[in-house]
Formats: sequence, structure tokens, C-alpha cells
Amino acid sequence: MKVRLLINGKECWGQRGQTILQIARENGIEIPALCYYEGLLPNGACRLCLVEVKGEKKLVTSCSYPVEKEIEVITETPRINQIRKTIVELLLSDHPYDCMTCEKSGACLLEKYAYRYGIKTPRYTGEKRKVINKQGAPFIVRDYEKCILCGRCVKVCRELVGVEAIDFSGRGFQTRIVSGFDEDLKESECVFCGNCVQVCPVGALREIQAEGKGRTWDFTKVQTICPYCGVGCGIEVSVRDNHIVKITGWNESLVNKGYLCVKGKFAFDYVAHPERLKRPLLRKDRKDRFLQVSWEEALDYIREKFTEIKEKHGPDALAGLASAKCTNEDNYLFQKLFRQVIKTNNVDHCARLCHAATIHGLVQTLGSAAMTNSLKEIEDITDCIIVTGTNVFETQPVTSYLIRKAIQRGATLIVIDPRYTRMAEIAKINLQPRIGTDVLVFNALAKIIVEERLYNQEFVENRVEGFEEFRNWIKNFSLKQAEKIAGLSIESLREVARIYATSKASMILWSMGITQHITGTDNVMVLSNLALLTGQIGKPGAGLAPLRGQNNVQGACDMGVLAEFYPGYQKTEKKETLEKFRKLWDVEELPAKPGLTVVEIIQGCYEGKIKGLYIMGENPLVSDPDISHVQEALEKVNFLVVQDIFLTETASFADVVLPACTSFEKEGTFTNTERRVQKLTRCVEPSGEAKPDWEIIKNLAGKFGYQWNYQSVWDVTDEISAAAPIYAGITARRICLGEAIQWPCPEEKHSGTSTLHVEKFPRGKGLLKCIDYQQPFELPDQDYPFVLTTGRIISEYHTRTMTGKVAGLQEITGEPFCLINHKDAQRMKLKDKDRVEVSSRRGRLRLVVRKTDTLSEGVIFIPFHFLANILTHSELDPVARIPEFKICACQIRKVQ
Ligand code: SF4
Ligand code: SF4
Ligand code: SF4
Repeated sequence: MKVRLLINGKECWGQRGQTILQIARENGIEIPALCYYEGLLPNGACRLCLVEVKGEKKLVTSCSYPVEKEIEVITETPRINQIRKTIVELLLSDHPYDCMTCEKSGACLLEKYAYRYGIKTPRYTGEKRKVINKQGAPFIVRDYEKCILCGRCVKVCRELVGVEAIDFSGRGFQTRIVSGFDEDLKESECVFCGNCVQVCPVGALREIQAEGKGRTWDFTKVQTICPYCGVGCGIEVSVRDNHIVKITGWNESLVNKGYLCVKGKFAFDYVAHPERLKRPLLRKDRKDRFLQVSWEEALDYIREKFTEIKEKHGPDALAGLASAKCTNEDNYLFQKLFRQVIKTNNVDHCARLCHAATIHGLVQTLGSAAMTNSLKEIEDITDCIIVTGTNVFETQPVTSYLIRKAIQRGATLIVIDPRYTRMAEIAKINLQPRIGTDVLVFNALAKIIVEERLYNQEFVENRVEGFEEFRNWIKNFSLKQAEKIAGLSIESLREVARIYATSKASMILWSMGITQHITGTDNVMVLSNLALLTGQIGKPGAGLAPLRGQNNVQGACDMGVLAEFYPGYQKTEKKETLEKFRKLWDVEELPAKPGLTVVEIIQGCYEGKIKGLYIMGENPLVSDPDISHVQEALEKVNFLVVQDIFLTETASFADVVLPACTSFEKEGTFTNTERRVQKLTRCVEPSGEAKPDWEIIKNLAGKFGYQWNYQSVWDVTDEISAAAPIYAGITARRICLGEAIQWPCPEEKHSGTSTLHVEKFPRGKGLLKCIDYQQPFELPDQDYPFVLTTGRIISEYHTRTMTGKVAGLQEITGEPFCLINHKDAQRMKLKDKDRVEVSSRRGRLRLVVRKTDTLSEGVIFIPFHFLANILTHSELDPVARIPEFKICACQIRKVQ
């Protein structure tokens, strides 16, 4: 509810419950503050934000004074200013006077307020702090002589990140900030998210990478988007002499409001890495070494080889793998090249390996498959958050911050995951079912919801199809059997079902723990059943949230780099789709038959059906299942083109390698996990002769006689809005004006859509599906008695093409490792750091052991970044054709 204030005589409006400081700032009135930071709980410690409130006898701290009714506030009087000046003078009394050489100068709040209150020489001189600097390597300088003990760093670490790596220690003048038991940061729980650096108002915490590179006024600052995960955090990049000096969180971003994780904050060294590809490489015989060639020569050779293959074997002998790391524009042109120019739908990308099951599941039950709400709704509205099959603290750290904030607001967190994840620590209920039993667990919840009449009668009647059939079918579902197989008590399931169904707004968040199974599509549909039964969908804060892994997975899917969809999820076989694209692309003939998907393309290479493969920004030799098989396939394919920023594992098998730009070197758009289309801005010039992917594809199309008339990347953005109805109103003009719009956006005047399916589902009514449980493909046996499961870790990204080149991250990650339950370890006489070989029917891998109690007995976890797919199998979900990365049988033995 709105509330009116008079601040310094000016009429201001805010929300009831907001503080004076928040309302003042929102209305353009600055009140100084050192301990307060937007998004953290206020504690009124520094007293700089004191103001007068009419009717109050004393001055009040505006950061902690909630406004409940109309009040009059004065923020500046001679008395207030004198108090503020004295506070700053006292802080300066034990602070070094070295602003002239301090790296923070120009961005330091203490310096700013000293200037503002005219403090030239110290009025009070006290003992200076002599704090021994504590190591913050690999990324953070901890210069605690400059610390003013405002507590912002402690608060952000505790409240937002949830790590509590640092705290106050000592009393009085001896008070200081310490990590762990006063040790180096690396020895503590710190995950190097850098948020303490971001919020520190002075130079006590700084970025090591920026030391000696200049001060704030020396840098050009460019706002763009983090190149890593699907959250799509806004970042501000400081650039000097065409080099990235540091990255800070972009406070204006609608997504992250300035907070980041370790990758977004510190992992940019790969951009200027000496191993970056700078010129096209070519070899006419795979036994030869690569030669550097001109762009003309490389593109001519690709045209020649592709034409030869097409003429001899037809267009379907060619295939392309696009990239969830590339922009919408790059991906749009990639599929256009294959469909318009080459005439095949053999174009796919790694979403097939992560969320294809989400797409196929939700398209069946709702008619469209994207996150149904915005991240902000989770933070502000959702009352019950179920997190399942996603280790969100490691995979989408900033989303985990939003969940923490939701809990502070009073929301209930329920975690259902075979692993004990970091989010489980703060969950009201944490359930650890046996791996691969998701269908049973969520069917059990559905049964309880129906049995206890917790379903939403009105919603089911008006918006859902198949309820009677579902009700009859679920009658025969045995809770006892679910309890036995999944290893969860019926009582705990009842508690979850009740909270989920009766909360005002419930949301289910998931990622690959749900999708990467042979029953991935089924797993998604049983989640969808819960939302449809309870009406926890189609309203703010309630819905289904498939969390995207890579930065532009959502966008790449939207752009139609999927074998069965043209841009905007328009089916390849549909007449209207073909008609539309024939007109748009001014071409007679387009392929209708759905193409091959990622795993099928690799199999096609292996079997000799695919003769030519073009891979843009993907590294299947690490990301695909059964890597040895992938390697054989790549060796067999007649002609391989790889377009990337480094000579990756995959690129080293290629005939032609094309040097591409990183996201810091090009423009375009990314679409984040919540369907928000955001502008990517160029920060530095490309490395050597590297080009933006879209430009390379455009030039290649030109070689085939298709002169695409794009003057800039923004012409492609406009073509996307003509091609994909969900992007119709997302024009280059709006993006360049700084709008970050959530699709669907049907026209230019439309402001975008935060909550989906408010009135109806794209398929009309939501469909309930009766789904029977099916066992995983490969279970442990005598030869391979352990279950192997894979996942991500916070300090790495995907196939490590980027993070592997960031020395600081490698220091954090350490040696490639596997996790094993401490009881199993004890039984096998394994200690931490012992070297082991983990083997499966497909391969073997050497790692070091880390014991854990986050896994059940009999389960081994390997981060997939460490070539874990040498061990996994490629059995597919029959519908989404996603492989079962999450479960296979393995053995472990100690080696020297
Ligand atoms: S870097 Fe992050 S985890 Fe480490 S101390 Fe700072 S806020 Fe805490
Ligand atoms: S290190 Fe910075 S943020 Fe932390 S208490 Fe000191 S001045 Fe405040
Ligand atoms: S949460 Fe994701 S988008 Fe945000 S900074 Fe981290 S990696 Fe980047």
C-alpha cells in the first residue's frame, strides 16, 4: 500500500513498510549512509543517516525507520550535518590518510563524505589500526587498515550468500573482521563471490586483478551481461587500454541488482588469454598440423567441402551444433544457414542435453515450456518454494540469493534432492529420495493432494483437462510402494503436499536432476501435474521454473536451433511455419522433416550418415555422454568445422577452425532463464582477426550465394522479432534503449510478460498426465556396484573452455575430484585426497577422493566438468531424446 511523505518539503511516495532512506533515495533525495546497503537488512550502526522526523523527540536513523503513515522528514540541518561531520572525523581518526595512492580513490564513500563535510585535516588523531593483512587470494585484497567496521561485508556474506565466511572478532579498538578462525580466506568457507568487495564502501576490500591498473576515473565503464549462467546478471565492466580491468555488479540490473557470483565477478581472464584463437586455421589432412589462413581461404574451403557433400549425399548428410553460449542473433543465423542455405533441419544444440525434457514435457501439458514467472516474483511473492533436482547454490548462485531473501520475508523452502545441497541447510523440509525415483515422489504428492482434497476445485474445473481420468488412475497408485522405493516417509510427503497445495503462491524450481534421465519428460510432467491440480500456476509468484544452465540456453531454444522447431517453437512440419519462413527468407524450398538431435548427430557421424559437421561454440568431447564414442564419431566424420574462442578438445579434431569473439567483444542479445531479453554490449575489441559468430555465418552464407543484407547485428534482432511471434515486440530499438523485456511480447507497445498462463494455457486447458514409474537404464550390479551421478560446481562452467583459463578459479577448484560417502570411503579404506580410478562399462577416470556426508551410501558424484562423461551412457529419453547423464553404474578403486 502506498504512503505519502514530505521530505524536505517535497512530496514523496513510497510503499508502506519501506524505510525513510529507501523512499528518499527512490525520490532522488540522497541521505548519506555507510553501513546501509540496498538489499541488506539495515542495522543503523554508522548513524550517518540520522534525520529529523516531525513529532519524534530524537533524531532517527532513516535506514531502519519504517514508514507506516504520513510523516514529515528533514534530512539536512546544521545540527544533523555537524553530527555527520563528527562521525566522519572519528572514522578518519584511525584511518590511513593515503587517498592520493589508494586504489579506491574516486569510488570511496568515506572520501566522498570527508569532502562533503569539508574535512581537510584530522581533528581527532588516534591510534591507527595495525591489522595484519589477511590473504584473500586468489581474487581479493584484504587491506583491513582501511576498514571502518561498517559490517556490510559480514551482512552480505551471511544474509545473501549464506556462507558466513567472515565475522567481527575482538572488542573495542581491537575489533576487526576475520575469516574462519582468523585464517586466510581460502582456508575458510568463502566461495569468492566478491559480494563483500562489491559492498565495501572503502578500500579495505578490493579486486586483486585491478591492483595497479588505475583508479576509477581511468576506466571506461560498460554495462553488459555476465557470460556464464542462465541468471543473466548485469555487470559493469571497467576497461582500460582495451583490457578488462575489473567487473562489478551492475546495480541497475533488474535481475541481480548488483550482486554476483565468483564467475561473474572474477572469471574474465580468458578474454585476453594468450591461447585465444586469432586467425582461421585449416588443414587438408587430419594428420597435418593446422596452418593459419585468411578468412577468404577458410570460408571458400568450407563452401567447397559442404557443396561436395551435399551434391554427393544430399543436405541431410550435413549437420550443425549451435551454442547456448552464443547470442540470439548468432543462433538465429546459424539455424537460418542450415535451413535456408543447406536445406536440412539437422541443427541442434546442447539444450538437448539439459532441458529438452522440460520442453517436451511442458509443451504436452501446457503448450509452452519456459519459466512461468520472473525471478523477482520468487524474491517478493512466492510463499512455498520447492527446489528439486537442482543444486542452485552452485549452478545459479544469484537465484539462491533470491531464495534466501524470500525466506527472510517468510517463505517456506522445501528441498527434494538425492544430494544434501547447500539450500537444504536452510530448508524447512529436506527430503533425500533415492536417485531416479522422481516420478514416484511427485506422484505420491499428487495422490495425497487428491486424497486429502487439497486440489483447487475451481481451477481444475475451469482450466484443466483429464482430471477424472487422473483421479481414477491415481487411486491405484501405492504410497507404500513409493515410500519403499524412494526411501521417504509417507508422513514427510504429506507435510510437503499440504504446504505446497495450501500456500498462497507455490513455485517448483528444477534443472538437470529432473531432466537428465530416460524418464526426463515424465519427471517434468509429474511436476506439471502438481501445479495443475493445485492451481499453483498462472498467478504472480506461482508456477514452474526450469532453471537454465548456460547464459543463453533459453534464447538458443527460442531461436530454433532445435531439430524440430523453427524460431519461436514453430514446428518444422507445419505448413504455416514453412509458408511463413519461405516468405520471410525469400526462398522457394525449406526442409520440413524434423532433423537429427545432438546425440543422433554424433551417432550419425559415427555411422557415416553425417559427412560434414559444423560446431559453433560447443565442445561435445566434454559435454556429450560416452566421450570415447564421441571421439570415434569425430574422427570418422569426413569434414569438421569448429568455430570457437580456443582450440578446444573438439576443435583439435577439426579440419577448419574459425576464431570467434567472446561475449565481451560483440553485441547482440541474450535471453535469461526468466525469458528476459537483455542487451549485450561490446567492451573490448576482438582478439586478432576473431569475428562475432553472426558475422562469420553471414559471410559463409554469402559464399553460397545468399547475400544477407544485415548492416549490423541489430538488423538480425529485428528479423528475429518478425520470425518469432513471442519476440514480435522486442525490437532492436527497444533493446538499444536499454529495455530488458520478458517474452512473450506480441507488439512494440507491449511491456513484456512477467507471469505466464494467467488466463489460459497456450494449448487451451492444462493437461494432467498419468505417468507410471520406470527404473533407470543402468543400475548397480556386482561388477559396478556404485551409482554414479554428475553435476556442476560453482567455480567451473560447463566444459571449462572459459573457466579453465582463469588461474584463480583453478586454485579454488583444485584437482579433479569425486565425492564419496564417508561410510563407503571407510569401508574401502579411502582417505581424503587419495587417488582413485572410477570406471564404468564405457571408460575410466582418475581423480582424487573427497569424503562427504552430502551423498547417500552407494553413490559417487563427479562434477561433469572433469570429463565425467567418459563414464556416462547415451541411453535416451524416448520423447526428448535427452541422455541419462544422472545415473549409471560405476566402480571405484584406489590407485597410486
Ligand atoms: S567473497 Fe563472498 S563468500 Fe567470501 S567472504 Fe566475501 S561475501 Fe563471503
Ligand atoms: S571490510 Fe569494508 S565492508 Fe567490511 S566492515 Fe570493513 S569497511 Fe565495512
Ligand atoms: S549467477 Fe550466473 S549470471 Fe550471475 S554472476 Fe554468477 S554466473 Fe554470472
